[in-house]
Amino acid sequence: MEDPLDALRRRFPGKSKAWLRRALARLGDVEEAGGYYIVKGRPDLGDRYPQYHVWWSEAEGRWVCTCYLTEWGPRRARGVCTHVAAVLLYRAHGSAERREGRYYVATAVVECPERPEADGEVYARVVAGRSIADYARPRWRVAVVAKTPRVAVRCGGAVALEAEGMEATYGEAKALAEEYVAGGGPA
Ligand SMILES: [Zn+2]
Repeated sequence: MEDPLDALRRRFPGKSKAWLRRALARLGDVEEAGGYYIVKGRPDLGDRYPQYHVWWSEAEGRWVCTCYLTEWGPRRARGVCTHVAAVLLYRAHGSAERREGRYYVATAVVECPERPEADGEVYARVVAGRSIADYARPRWRVAVVAKTPRVAVRCGGAVALEAEGMEATYGEAKALAEEYVAGGGPA
């Protein structure tokens, strides 16, 4: 089993777990506003303003945020803030669908001749094989969005793997699951 948050490292390399968690938590705070995005400010995430604006700057060739002007100063503004990160996740996964209740997301690589199953929403993709043996025993990147913290991934009816899911809102869990399954490279 892997930490579902690691799925975001492909998009935001070198960032801490806490940073990734903050970016993800903002996914539900993003709103499109015709040419730019509004991200609601949250004092619990260290924000000093009620909202931040994020837009693509043609001149700078990158996404910029009003916090680069107000809070970071020009030196740190070379990085990516979690407001921009949330907008990039929003653009990749759509608005965080709001559903009541707790959800959990678990990610793992499972060897299985057929598509693995689990209780919950299963996202799965075959990992590209490197040898004939790999094709004979396909491995899957599997992400499960479940209502219970303990997630059992089944292969052909038998439990192939049990994983502890990470608690998240439904929208966050779905985004992490999609990020994970889309992730490339050797699993
Ligand atoms: Zn920002």
